[in-house]
Amino acid sequence: MAPMKCPACDSEIPDQANACPHCGRALKAAPIRSLSGKLQAIGTILVAVSILAMMAGTWWGAALLFPGAAFFIIGRVL
Ligand SMILES: [Zn+2]
Repeated sequence: MAPMKCPACDSEIPDQANACPHCGRALKAAPIRSLSGKLQAIGTILVAVSILAMMAGTWWGAALLFPGAAFFIIGRVL
């Protein structure tokens, strides 16, 4: 793969870099992608835990389902 160029200082940056090693500018694409993956993972865990909790008859299972679904949807949309 061809190296990317820093939008701030125009230096070449390795593909996997989250920030420019020359000027320190954060590169947007990678952090957002990893954030959405994390949100989706958190949402999946929350939904799974809340469903298990609801089956066990606990009140906080239903309370957890809504933030869990919200995290999951936000993670998918990002
Ligand atoms: Zn730079």
